Amino acid sequence: MKRGGLVSFVGAGPGDPELITLKGLRRLREADVVIHDRLIPGEVLEQTRPRVEVIDVGKAPGRPCLGQGEINRLLVDRGAGRRHVVRLKGGDPTIFGRLAEEIEAVRTAGLAFEVVPGITSATAAAARAGISLTERGSSSTVVFATGAVHGNRKALALDWDLLAHTGGTLVFYMPVGRLESVTASLTSLGRDPREPAILIERVGVVGERVIAGRLGDISERGRAAGVAAPALLITGPTVAAASEPATVRRVASHLAGVSDG
Ligand code: SAH
Repeated sequence: MKRGGLVSFVGAGPGDPELITLKGLRRLREADVVIHDRLIPGEVLEQTRPRVEVIDVGKAPGRPCLGQGEINRLLVDRGAGRRHVVRLKGGDPTIFGRLAEEIEAVRTAGLAFEVVPGITSATAAAARAGISLTERGSSSTVVFATGAVHGNRKALALDWDLLAHTGGTLVFYMPVGRLESVTASLTSLGRDPREPAILIERVGVVGERVIAGRLGDISERGRAAGVAAPALLITGPTVAAASEPATVRRVASHLAGVSDG
């Protein structure tokens, strides 16, 4: 017998308020408590019932954020007493979202949980740039990798040799700050520096930008453009078809009003 309520881990999508599933929206409308990350559109948060407790645990520059342990404790605390907690996470909860740790906390506390998928920023970015992540003949694999280093490990724990030779499409989440080392690791092990690559910043939110280049110069271009998080690096043969940044910017101007909170 489960002792408490239900925790629904819901993917909110990458920031465009229309990119949340109907199931996710329904959970949000039923929730007693909402615990959310940053970059959740205001329009989505407005879907909650009146007087629902809404807790922002997101990390933002210059603002205090909660540590993972505190988030886990909050989930367990609010999930007790038969309440329905929605843990709203950016993109898809199963991709670089520390979901396993949160599930573990909830499960250990004897609470029921479910996961409602969301649109991950990689597929939203591909959609915005007008590219396919796979293509018959040229890209039959897609790798979602992180450019971030955790703990006190100095190097990224990635099999660079494999990534350099796998062909297909590589998507790096959290690449800002490590563009040089990510791209140099790939090209020094034999990935073609002329391969088309793009950086996509703030997919689906105000300030969306696409910076296009090649694997060998995208880090320099990103630096020159002052690219900042959240952004993705996508490299691979199918990226050649990416739309001009101007086209994407024009579409993005219709999204004014989407908040970053
Ligand atoms: N669970 C999320 C990823 C969390 S890790 C997902 O499925 O998308 C956070 C990283 O995701 C950011 O550093 C960035 O690389 C990427 N990201 C998330 N939202 C983004 C957006 N709107 N535009 C560009 N990148 C985004």
